[in-house]
Order: sequence, then C-alpha cells, then structure tokens
Amino acid sequence: MDSKEYSITRKCKRCGNIDVFPLSKREAAFDLYNRYSLWYSECSNCNSTQCASLGRSYVYLDESLLREWAYSEALRVNEQDEEVILGDETISDVNALFDLLDDHSVLFTKKKIIIEALCVVLHDYLTGDGLEVSNTLAARVRAELIKRKPMVVDSEDWIMDYVKQAAFPYLGL
Ligand SMILES: [Zn+2]
Repeated sequence: MDSKEYSITRKCKRCGNIDVFPLSKREAAFDLYNRYSLWYSECSNCNSTQCASLGRSYVYLDESLLREWAYSEALRVNEQDEEVILGDETISDVNALFDLLDDHSVLFTKKKIIIEALCVVLHDYLTGDGLEVSNTLAARVRAELIKRKPMVVDSEDWIMDYVKQAAFPYLGL
C-alpha cells in the first residue's frame, strides 16, 4: 500500500483554520487529488466553504517516480513547468533522466520533455563567457546530450527558442 505520509492543507479564508488531508507520495508528486473539491470543501472549524489557499507537501522526484511519470501519458509532475521542475536538481534526480532516454518503454512524448529539461539545465548554467563547465551537473548533461544528438534534433520543435539558441552551440548543433 501507498502510505499517506504527505499532505495537502486547506486554509480557511474566514477563520484561518488549517485542515490537513493526507496524500501518498505518488498522489502528492503527480497532484492526484481533486483540487476543486478540496478548495470548495467545508472548514472543519467554521463550516465556511471559502478557501484562502491550498498547499501540498514538497516531494523530491526520485528515480522511481520519474520512471512512473515517463511510462505514463496521464501523469504530470506539474501542469505548466514540467521541464523546469525535472531539470532542477534540488527537486528532481536529474541523473536518472539520462537512463530514461535510452529506455524503450519510455513514451516518446516524455523523452522530448526530458530533452527539453536537460537543455534548460544547460541554459541555466551558461554565463557570459560560455558554459560554466565547473558545474558538474551542467558538464554531465552536456556530455550525455552530445551522446544523443539525433534525439536532441528530433525534439527541437519542443524546445523554446531562447533555450535552444543558448544550449545548442554547446552540443555542436
Ligand atoms: Zn473556518
């Protein structure tokens, strides 16, 4: 069983009471809860349905969560900024992403998002002088992407222009 060690909190707009709803790691990582019904649920203290805010537990995206995400069309780690979240080493096991690129069970659409995320990492570690290669993550991302150039080219249309313009010269593209 997936134990409920994580949570989402709902703060009441009227009385400030905070209600806590348990979530499993998986539910928290992939936002698998009904945001709408939580938002409009009744405060356990004053019964008001006016919500001030919802806040969920922080979840580190480990290798096993990343793999599940990569195999499933339905799962999202974020509605809008997946490529930013995946490439942030404080939130995600970026090194696990390289293996997923070579995994035949990983969906093509997810591989494109991974490539985009890795290009964002390169972009983020570029300085005025070029790539900050002293950063080990950036150096490894660069080496791993160079090994997979055709895959990067295939994903080109998915990558934002400013990221592409910054990262591609460092991949020999
Ligand atoms: Zn209340």
